[in-house]
Amino acid sequence: MTDRLYYDDSYLTRFTATVREVKDGWVRLDRSAFYPTSGGQPYDTGVLSGLPVTDVEVIDGDVWHKVEGILSPGQTVEGIIDWPRRFDHMQQHGGEHLLAGEIYRQLGGVTIGLHLGHDEVTIDCDLPDGRLHLTDEELTALEDGVNGRIQADAPCRCWFPSEEELALLPLRKPPTVKEHVRIVAFGDFEMVACGGTHPSSAGQIGLVKILDARPCKGKIRFTFLCGQRALMDYRDRFSALARASGLLSAGYADLPDKIQRLKDENHSLRLALARVKRDEAMAQVRSLSGQRIIKAIFQGLGMDALQEAARLALSLGADAALLASQEDHGVLLLFARSASLPRDMGQLLRSCGAKGGGRPDFAQGRADTPDALDKADALLASDQA
Ligand SMILES: [Zn+2]
Repeated sequence: MTDRLYYDDSYLTRFTATVREVKDGWVRLDRSAFYPTSGGQPYDTGVLSGLPVTDVEVIDGDVWHKVEGILSPGQTVEGIIDWPRRFDHMQQHGGEHLLAGEIYRQLGGVTIGLHLGHDEVTIDCDLPDGRLHLTDEELTALEDGVNGRIQADAPCRCWFPSEEELALLPLRKPPTVKEHVRIVAFGDFEMVACGGTHPSSAGQIGLVKILDARPCKGKIRFTFLCGQRALMDYRDRFSALARASGLLSAGYADLPDKIQRLKDENHSLRLALARVKRDEAMAQVRSLSGQRIIKAIFQGLGMDALQEAARLALSLGADAALLASQEDHGVLLLFARSASLPRDMGQLLRSCGAKGGGRPDFAQGRADTPDALDKADALLASDQA
């Protein structure tokens, strides 16, 4: 079995080792500080004698390194861990212990799994009585509890206890493995079995921010960020808020009310504009009164108003109404006729290259350009000829 150097020292970033076996680009060493993907924590990257390590897995107790380049059995290699990536994982993982501990103490929730993703970190929890929702006050209390622990900066200790000692430890939940149980403890208030890498004290976690807690597959899923990730998130949100504040000339606390007012105002303006466009369209149709075929193109009128305009055209005595509304993407079409004209308007619409259909006397559709109007007009004219 590979001697896992990170068990004793998660701050070890350089080590020497001997290559034991090489297989399909994967390398097994006698000892390694590289963390293999396990327990929800992703693998470390870095180099072995200058060659990039792009994946690390554990198989039957041995750590295997995917190496881009050739190494040979017996060779002595120097390993260097990508420290920013590792420390990020340590912060997230340490924060997860404290958050899971706080969920347990404050709410009696049991954490099921950790997912340490590229952007976000999640844990799934079973809460007593199958609760799937938390109040804002409960979430705030969890955050305050965790960050209070971080600020108190309790030390983190990792060790392999004897069976006798293990039996007496106040673990938050029973270990999932039977042998070589490794214990991770923050101060005297948080203790679980874990094989991951953690900061040597709670203070190095920096900050834990819960982003979300929502039901997921019968459990409650907490999404959170720790340490540098939380700072980056704060920075991103701050800059977005600062931009919005500048655009709306409002302090960030006033933004929600200001945005709501703008939305309401926008809604009223849209309704007013639609009314104006409709009135204009009706006036235009009336101005064409007396023509046998009323043909018109409107801007952003919408289908409801097009239908109304078509009915008006027919009520004014036209044999047919060929109407279009130019929208942001394409053109809406409405072809309607009186009982005196023996033409299937749906068929006419399609024979002009448009998509759509409807009743023989009242059809609607869509086209890329308003050219269909002229084509339809020409076809109706040839009917009369
Ligand atoms: Zn852990």
